[in-house]
Amino acid sequence: MFRTASSRRTAATLCASLSAFTSYHYYLFLQSTSTPPDPRERLAIARLPSLAAAQRTPVLRIPGFLSAPECDALLSLSQTPPVSSEAGSFSRDAFGVRHASTLLEAPWRTAYLHSSPSFCTKHLPPLLARVRAAVAERCYARGSPLLAALPGGAPALAGLGARTVEVHESVGGGGLVDERHFDGGSIFTVDILLTSDFTGGRFATLEIDEDGKEELVEQEFNKGDLIIFLSHKYHTVKKVTGGRRATFVMELWETDEQRTCPHRCCQRYGECTYSKADVLMDRMLGAVDE
Ligand SMILES: [Zn+2]
Repeated sequence: MFRTASSRRTAATLCASLSAFTSYHYYLFLQSTSTPPDPRERLAIARLPSLAAAQRTPVLRIPGFLSAPECDALLSLSQTPPVSSEAGSFSRDAFGVRHASTLLEAPWRTAYLHSSPSFCTKHLPPLLARVRAAVAERCYARGSPLLAALPGGAPALAGLGARTVEVHESVGGGGLVDERHFDGGSIFTVDILLTSDFTGGRFATLEIDEDGKEELVEQEFNKGDLIIFLSHKYHTVKKVTGGRRATFVMELWETDEQRTCPHRCCQRYGECTYSKADVLMDRMLGAVDE
């Protein structure tokens, strides 16, 4: 895999660029790198759904998965030391482009909770267990359309790790504006809406019918609801027009290793050396990284 800081940085930046700006398939990123990936990585990628198959699958919703006090507590946890001080974060501007400043100047802020040792030790295990149970209940039932889209069938639930655990906060102007955004390389994306006192900011998916006709469809998503969808399904968040929107996001991918690096990692196996110092450096350089 990516043994040096420079090659790892290049790989991470390429991955983010492909995902965020061209929506190109994840495996093309890997093929574009000169270093062959871990053989387990190739197997995991072969079991990912095609983009076309993912678009034909639904978004599944569990209303009231978290109570209102649980939502408030989770948001507060992400905003309070030691988690807030330990976790890496970055901001995006109104166009979805990585921004070097704070939430006061950039309307979309992402905190990578999995990079907080305190979060990983105390809070991640029970949250991951609850999310896996939700996936088992809604996605692993007989005839599930999500599983039918996976070329390798149902991956073992215990083999699905949390690639990234994030809290996104957005205020006026913040949004995920790319209608073809998808979470390349992951299998399931799980979102929980943590606030209700905002306007705009509707979650939507780009539905494509058999004739290729496209329609952006807003999905019902209320405070405390959990939604699950295949990570390769195109999804977007319309711009927030008032108040504060906060979501908890967890991507599940095939690995038995827990990432603790402060970004959305592209390395499934082996040590990733991306650090908070790299976050600061990338901010200074204006580099794009998930
Ligand atoms: Zn990493």
